[in-house]
Amino acid sequence: MEGKANEAPTIGIDLGTTYSCVAVWYRNRIEIIPNDQGNRTTPSCVAFLDTERLIGDGAKNQIAMKPANTIFDAKRLIGRKYSDSMVQEDMKWWPFKVRQGPSDTPKIVVSYKGQEKEFFAEEISSMVLSKMKEIAEAYLGKVVKNAVITVPAYFNNSQRQATKEAGIIAGLNVIRIINEPTAAAIAYGLDNNASIIGKIKVLIFDLGGGTFDVSLSTIEEGGIFEVKAVAGNTHLGGEDFDNRMVNHCVREFKRKYDVDLTGNQRALGRLRYACEKVKRILSSTTQTTIDLDCLHAGIDFSMKFTRAKFEELNMDSFNECIQIVEKCLHDASVEKSSVDEIILVGGSTRIPKIQCMLQEFFDGRELCKNVNPDEAIACGAAMMAAKLTDDDDTTFQDLSLSDVTPLSLGVETTGKEMNVLIPRNTPVPTKKAKIYVTNNENQSAISIKVYQGERARSTDNHFLGKFNVYGIPPAPKGVSQIKQCLEVDVNGILTVTAEVLSTGESEKLIIRNENGRLSKKEIEKMIKDAEKYKLEDQEFKKKMDAYNALENSIYKMKNKINEYSITKNLQPGIVKKMENAIAETIESLENNRDAPIEELERMKVFLELVCMPLI
Ligand code: AMP
Repeated sequence: MEGKANEAPTIGIDLGTTYSCVAVWYRNRIEIIPNDQGNRTTPSCVAFLDTERLIGDGAKNQIAMKPANTIFDAKRLIGRKYSDSMVQEDMKWWPFKVRQGPSDTPKIVVSYKGQEKEFFAEEISSMVLSKMKEIAEAYLGKVVKNAVITVPAYFNNSQRQATKEAGIIAGLNVIRIINEPTAAAIAYGLDNNASIIGKIKVLIFDLGGGTFDVSLSTIEEGGIFEVKAVAGNTHLGGEDFDNRMVNHCVREFKRKYDVDLTGNQRALGRLRYACEKVKRILSSTTQTTIDLDCLHAGIDFSMKFTRAKFEELNMDSFNECIQIVEKCLHDASVEKSSVDEIILVGGSTRIPKIQCMLQEFFDGRELCKNVNPDEAIACGAAMMAAKLTDDDDTTFQDLSLSDVTPLSLGVETTGKEMNVLIPRNTPVPTKKAKIYVTNNENQSAISIKVYQGERARSTDNHFLGKFNVYGIPPAPKGVSQIKQCLEVDVNGILTVTAEVLSTGESEKLIIRNENGRLSKKEIEKMIKDAEKYKLEDQEFKKKMDAYNALENSIYKMKNKINEYSITKNLQPGIVKKMENAIAETIESLENNRDAPIEELERMKVFLELVCMPLI
């Protein structure tokens, strides 16, 4: 299948905390699309510099030079409030500034082209998504419009909604949001289709850079996927392990030299980069060293790091992973002995201790490592994308997917009690309604507050939004009835409606965007800004191309003088003329470093017009 003639196929994007990956069903197979550097995953990183914006490898490579203007971890901010304790904790680690925006939304502050700019996390994620879109467009040679994007299964409604909005800002039509472990299960199931007999139970253990998800699904012959339960922590992953290592190094530095380096963002950035590398090395060897010249206050830092120390620093997180696996099995009512496959996904599952603890938990059973931990999620997303959009292809015709909602959804009742309408792990899409009555005499309005979470007291859960229903006709207490309905769609996104039933007439209100999230107008503005930044990037690239072409031309002419002086015995007069033209061009270039493209092109034409006829 080549997709419909002029349309690019729908792509699948794994938008990760640290790395992102894009895949597509193309020429009858799943292809992971490499980026312009030839890498199959792209850092989820955006750098704002004095002259340009970099996204992906380019941004990550210069992070130590411009730590305050290089943004990573947007996924840890997306859909969260500024005052969220997780955000406050993360901010201590970030070299970039985050400030409290309207309605407690976090805003990332950078200096771009000499000006202070503020961005929502959705905008930074949209920049990463637009990079993934461009990577796919360059590969397919067509404009890409449609995408399936994955999110951690344990993302709440706000985080899902915000991810979808990031896609819209990037110019994508997000046809489906699917859960990361579900995507991995699809990739595993379709890869191993031939060997699946009857119905098997698979546990996906997905530990990436920023999030941890576990899911228990059944896979039936022919590609019927049913998620039974999910559990996880949206703030547990490789970056937390890196942070612990950085902390340890900072303490060692203080102990050895009695100097505190915590105020030095550049040193912390270099340390973090080195720790992440050391962590990877410790997955294959048992000890290594960190060596950083002139880390802080002129001091060179060198330290041995053992695998045992790394494990000790992170043991509480590793234990938490196992507890989450237990919770998932419990919620799915599945005995660990009846799980058929334990599948590892996400870069952090390469850590030997994690593999060892998981294997021990499953009484020594072999873990399945035959899916690529970095690519499986994007592959599954691309398979889902093909299923949803390509009617001509029969490969995914039988693929059927039923997912669940990760957290309970409910409304607040008197006494701040959480009244659950949709319990966690309910298959989606789902719709649940309940009738409530008025609490007061002649009550004319009611306020509905919606929460997500497992705690008994509403305020201990995640507040999703509130809205008021007015126009309830006068009636004694307990007579007027209000039907409240919660509906979760296939993307895991919630819509709430309320109807006043007492008069037979109904009033219906829908909340799609909960408080504090982006309004339609804001999204429209961001789409325009995204286009503007993209044009600026293209303009900058064109200018760099013109600049490089002129420099090339200068070198070419210099080489020709050398070459022709020997082989063609150039007259000294001609050499002089050429040298003068070269010197004049170099001078104009140096005097006019910000020359516009036309000027750079004019200089090139001048040089070539003078030199070419002479040789
Ligand atoms: P992902 O989000 O799945 O791309 O995973 C990225 C995370 O995996 C990052 O925190 C990496 O540092 C981590 N990672 C990748 N390779 C290894 C490895 N060999 N050992 C330990 N962690 C790794």
